[in-house]
Amino acid sequence: MKNLTVLGTGVLGSQIAFQAAYQGKDVVAYDLTDEILAKLTDRWEYLKPLYLRDLPDATEEKLNAAIGRIRTSSDLADALQDAEIVIEAVPEVLQIKRDTWAKAGAAAPPHTVFATNSSTLLPRDIADATGRPEKFLALHFANEVWRQNTGEVMGHVGTDPKYLDAVAEFAEEIGMVPVRLKKEQPGYIVNSLLVPFMTAASKLYARDVADVEAIDETWRRATGAPLGPFEIYDIIGMETPYNLNRHSDDPELREFAETLKREFIDKGRLGRSVGKGFYDYD
Ligand code: NAD
Repeated sequence: MKNLTVLGTGVLGSQIAFQAAYQGKDVVAYDLTDEILAKLTDRWEYLKPLYLRDLPDATEEKLNAAIGRIRTSSDLADALQDAEIVIEAVPEVLQIKRDTWAKAGAAAPPHTVFATNSSTLLPRDIADATGRPEKFLALHFANEVWRQNTGEVMGHVGTDPKYLDAVAEFAEEIGMVPVRLKKEQPGYIVNSLLVPFMTAASKLYARDVADVEAIDETWRRATGAPLGPFEIYDIIGMETPYNLNRHSDDPELREFAETLKREFIDKGRLGRSVGKGFYDYD
């Protein structure tokens, strides 16, 4: 599969588009408006030095060639006309995902394979909206896809195994290490481990048990881990934890979500991609 369309060009969508183009795929990046798509220029400028820092084979020339392989479009039918695979990275809200896939299912050619990058939703809850459940599965990336390069491949019971194979192969072609899940698991492998950890940190913060610096340092020193939970939140970006926690049954987590909105999202402290979140970055 050579032609990829990415739906949603935020934190993850922009990285997936850039990484696939870097590995030679032709990419169309779709988002709701041309104004949102115009921000991709800044995203590429953010990603380029990170590729140069982290990937020994990266050169300015290769990175510019990658950008040249990415076309943008805010017209869904236009964005999908040549797609062999679609990867969706729109907000983590079930109804937005279902609406997006219903429109994509109606507009894409019949052979196009569909993958969601959803972190917490299950493919079976979205599959029927696509109109082609046998070609629908999850391909889950981790943030900073060029170096945290797992590609968790997870179908639902109705996914035809040949598309699991095809998507795993595609993931490998774009520099991921595909990891096949044998069954549907909320949160895949990585978030089954990560979410309880981040939730515990969020509750320490909501209860004002210690400052974020102290929580992060304790975790790093005591375990040898490279990052503490709030440094990880800065990499993830604030929108995803906000959406995950704002309707929680747990009042402490709802309060954490409200704080994220008031003190971080509304003040533009969206995380490391914009240079500020829980911490300030150069
Ligand atoms: P984000 O908020 O940064 O980006 C979402 C993008 O989708 C925005 O550009 C927005 O304009 C666009 N969008 C909104 N509605 C749309 C629609 N109807 N059609 C097309 N585009 C639309 O979010 P994100 O952090 O990139 O997360 C996107 C998805 O990736 C989520 O499902 C999330 O669970 C998953 N994910 C995120 C991370 C992470 O670390 N941020 C990691 C793995 C997976």
